[in-house]
Amino acid sequence: MALDLFNSLSGRIEEFAPAEGNKVRFYACGPTVYDYGHIGNFRTFVAVDVLRRYLRQSGFELMHVMNITDVDDKIIRNANQRGVPIGDYTRKFEQAFMEDMGTLGIEQPEQISRATEHIAGMARFIRKLADKGVAYQTEDGSWYFRIDKFPEYGKLSKKDFAGMIVDGGGRMDADEYEKDDARDFALWKAPKEGEASWETEIGPGRPGWHIECSTMAMEYLGESFDLHAGGEDLMFPHHENEIAQSESLTGKTFARHWMHVRFLLVEGQKMSKSLGNFYTLRDLVLMGHKPSSIRLLLTSVPYRKQLNFTFDGLTQSANSVERLRNFKLRMETSTWEPGANAEVAAMAQTAIGEMRASLNDDLNTAQALAAIFDLVRDVNAAADHGKVKKDDVPAILTALGKFDEIFAVLKDEDAAHVKAIVDWARAEGLEEKISPETLEMAKSAALSDAQVEELVAKHSEARKAKDFKKSDAVRDELLAQGVVLENTKDGVRWKRK
Ligand code: AMP
Ligand code: ZN
Repeated sequence: MALDLFNSLSGRIEEFAPAEGNKVRFYACGPTVYDYGHIGNFRTFVAVDVLRRYLRQSGFELMHVMNITDVDDKIIRNANQRGVPIGDYTRKFEQAFMEDMGTLGIEQPEQISRATEHIAGMARFIRKLADKGVAYQTEDGSWYFRIDKFPEYGKLSKKDFAGMIVDGGGRMDADEYEKDDARDFALWKAPKEGEASWETEIGPGRPGWHIECSTMAMEYLGESFDLHAGGEDLMFPHHENEIAQSESLTGKTFARHWMHVRFLLVEGQKMSKSLGNFYTLRDLVLMGHKPSSIRLLLTSVPYRKQLNFTFDGLTQSANSVERLRNFKLRMETSTWEPGANAEVAAMAQTAIGEMRASLNDDLNTAQALAAIFDLVRDVNAAADHGKVKKDDVPAILTALGKFDEIFAVLKDEDAAHVKAIVDWARAEGLEEKISPETLEMAKSAALSDAQVEELVAKHSEARKAKDFKKSDAVRDELLAQGVVLENTKDGVRWKRK
């Protein structure tokens, strides 16, 4: 069973496999670090995370490259306004982005590379394009790509550029000088008074955005690689321009497969600051939402379908995570009758088979989740009727483990992540944004699992000795620290609030 993945380049679903051996070499456009990441950004990064996790579960090795755009117009403007060098300005947001990735359980790519550390390579790239006659310099010292030298321009976004005079919806920079053709795009921007610039073999200045990704992708992945990903807004002009530059230079296919993640809406609308529906990950956590609920919501709709982010949806996701975790706890802590029940073992097999078949179907995460929730429902029902036996449990836990290799919501690390965001908010003077629910969620971060276990043991001992005053006191102490303890017929269970 192979992974069928939609390829924006061919416009078709294709079987995806690496060109060479067992290693998938891919590139995903990273963040522009001028502000905190919003949930739209993380919709895309979580989708790419699902892809990488699924590829690894399918037995592939990974070489995943992500860039950090740490120089661009907005960065320069914001850093200048604050009177700090761009590096000082971007470092904070790059760090925040890395922390946010961790909060959402997004794995680190094998290679993360900053634009500002690859400037010489970009200049060399542009020099080679100039040698081939596809790049030219304008009077002010900027460099442009000559689009009429690349007849295939538009093959990714399927736009017809013949006869098109104006920029087809792309970003037209205010600081562009006389170009030979209005469609030509900037490879390199001449320096401006008071702005960051670099001395290079093609003159002083700073890189355009597109050249950054072509240069870094080739440096780490070679001239031709397996897959390139990003949000759908990047298809044109960014990815189209990456293809034009790269293929003009090498004459080879740049990326064989292109994956684009559909834009997320919030409460049915495009997210924007003016509409008041713009949320960073940190905003949501400070409002009282767990990182695990946010991750599950972001994965719940397949990447090519529009995800409408709503607070109702977030509450449902929180309930779903709770259900999954309770189910796992039940499996781990109940006392089961000896023996095996083939019917229950089959449920676990079916769930994993369906989950993988769904993910093979263009990463249909919604169906994959449905398969796991069917398992939870069916096994819970079987357990209620005493049909789950001791020897069935490992297979069920294995199925949950396979599920969590992709979805990553079962392990409860919410409290620690929430606590870190609370500390950050305090340090930034955002105290008034911290909701009571958030403080409640952060509480149990003070206790490690081992410390909780110790208190739980104390509680159980006191209970056994019929010292209920003491056992109640320990339970209350745990509750005050954000841990809920429950005595069931199978013994004691605990979880973080
Ligand atoms: P940026 O930091 O603006 O360069 O964006 C980082 C990534 O987030 C890119 O892959 C964008 O395409 C993606 N992105 C931005 N907004 C959204 C959105 N509303 N939905 C999905 N992806 C988005
Ligand atoms: Zn890019």
